[in-house]
Amino acid sequence: MGKETDLDPKALQFLAQLALKPSLQALRNSVFEEIDKGGWDYGYCPLCGSQPNMAYFDKTGKRHLHCELCGEEWPHPRLNCPFCRVQEQKSLGYFHSEQEEGFRVDFCRKCNRYIKTVDKRIVEDAAPMEVEYLATIHLDLLANKHGFK
Ligand SMILES: [Zn+2]
Ligand SMILES: [Zn+2]
Repeated sequence: MGKETDLDPKALQFLAQLALKPSLQALRNSVFEEIDKGGWDYGYCPLCGSQPNMAYFDKTGKRHLHCELCGEEWPHPRLNCPFCRVQEQKSLGYFHSEQEEGFRVDFCRKCNRYIKTVDKRIVEDAAPMEVEYLATIHLDLLANKHGFK
């Protein structure tokens, strides 16, 4: 589609996701109760199959991932890359935001991906993940500068 229009493919993807969001969120609301996420330890959304764009630690320190498309959230082991599933400690790392406490970037040296994480034990009044995602663009720049994508 990007070739037929003058639009940047990235912009098209963004628009497509935006257009899909309401129906996926409605779907999510209607099946939310029935989904068993207990045994789900994959790095992609149990509901729509998309990748996570944010993570957070809950009050007990457990990691959860947030779907970039439908907003679903599911638990995921901390020492496990959501993108390539590597579990070796030497491949995984993170750095903290210098500006604010409770935010960090978890990265993987194996696949060179990263995910931003909000620590809700520190950030007690964290906004919905969609908002935190937009509010932490500086962390994306930092991750890109370190060579992660
Ligand atoms: Zn999803
Ligand atoms: Zn990885």
